[in-house]
Amino acid sequence: MEIRVGIGFDIHRLEEGRELVIGGVKIPYEKGWVAHSDGDIFFHALTDALLGAIGYGDIGQLFPDSDKKWEGADSSIFLKEAYRIVKEKGYSIVNIDGYIILQKPKLLYYRKKIIENTAKILDIDVSRIFIKGKTFEKIGEIGEGKAGMCEVVVLLRKGE
Ligand code: MG
Repeated sequence: MEIRVGIGFDIHRLEEGRELVIGGVKIPYEKGWVAHSDGDIFFHALTDALLGAIGYGDIGQLFPDSDKKWEGADSSIFLKEAYRIVKEKGYSIVNIDGYIILQKPKLLYYRKKIIENTAKILDIDVSRIFIKGKTFEKIGEIGEGKAGMCEVVVLLRKGE
């Protein structure tokens, strides 16, 4: 059996009047992501973690933000494509773990929905995915609610 680990990171600014989408779940809040796509930091970090684990490239290479095609794009498209490549290389997901730092709103109420939606997209059991919601203790710009960030680790396996 071969195992591979991948790590991904993402950050986006938050502004009023935009949508806040995390793990494909629309979260009601006065602010949302400033991004070329829908700005889903969890799916962006997870996409990078999957691609990084197999040394394939990164999200910016596969889906450049200079490409009009990805304007306002549903980020599950990026995640699905990264996972398709991972499976094509013969790997499957052992587990995904990550954290999201947002000063507001509290992520705890949406965590189950985010995990369930991600599990559905990847067609894996919910027990293989976990995320923690953290604040930045009001420190700096993330702490002032001007941005949100996410870091994700994924473990892949191949063979018995
Ligand atoms: Mg991003």
